[in-house]
Amino acid sequence: MPDAAASGGRKISTGCVLMAKNRDEFTPATKRIIERQARGHCSNPACRRLTHAATSDGHGEINIGEAAHICAAAPGGPRYDDSMAPEERRSPENGIWLCDVHARAVDAKDSKFTVEMLRDWKKQTNRDSWHSIMHNVPFGPGMQAPTPDELRDRLRAAATADLAVFRRTEKWPGTTVALTLKVDHVDEALSTRALANAVTTLDDLILVAPPGMGKTTTLFQVAEGVSEIGNGTPLIVPLGDWATDGDALLTSILKRPAFTGVSETDFRAVARRGKLQPVWPRFQEFSSSTLPAR
Ligand SMILES: [Zn+2]
Repeated sequence: MPDAAASGGRKISTGCVLMAKNRDEFTPATKRIIERQARGHCSNPACRRLTHAATSDGHGEINIGEAAHICAAAPGGPRYDDSMAPEERRSPENGIWLCDVHARAVDAKDSKFTVEMLRDWKKQTNRDSWHSIMHNVPFGPGMQAPTPDELRDRLRAAATADLAVFRRTEKWPGTTVALTLKVDHVDEALSTRALANAVTTLDDLILVAPPGMGKTTTLFQVAEGVSEIGNGTPLIVPLGDWATDGDALLTSILKRPAFTGVSETDFRAVARRGKLQPVWPRFQEFSSSTLPAR
């Protein structure tokens, strides 16, 4: 057999070329980003082992980690999503740094390892690596889990930052004058500030008014009031936007930049411990004839 290099050809077998073409592999630069975000530790929160070290003689390097795909690189692989573009599949967002053991585990045919679970691992790891750098605390298996109060404060801070994002958009009302509302079964008219005080004890607050009467302004003012008073965590969900992005409601909220440090696990933990009284302003336009039955 002639030497491929000597004859000017390339020493790559056809089989390898075909395989590489069918798989949306990470580039070395992307792998490096994924590894560095996890600070070289396994992203499974129950593991978090360090994945690289010097060899015993100090001349080399031991690596027991790898950049695993959250959604598989090729059809037939675990969690493959055919709606993703190849660039998305190859992006750092679709990668998670894991030790060899857990990389093999999530590669197995085991429905326990869902896309949501791996994204949650990655989000927790990124958040902890950021926290570790910012507050100079050790990162690794022994990293202290945040207390429920810390989680609640983190969620409130994220909701406040999210509100600030809305404030910069066209959706935010131009007026800063607090509106006054007439509420069924309440004699006095209420300001939006008073409603913000009371809203966490209400099951639902349904605003009924013709277009242009200030429903949107009211909801934003109530959300802002709740944030300032600190009696709840206002989460603004324009249902029209959410209905078109195809995500679960919570996933859609947690994708917003302000919630970068908050995982679904955190969110549920806070809610479970009663540290969260979410206000879910329902930006739904009802006409009086289509009001939901109460
Ligand atoms: Zn691991």
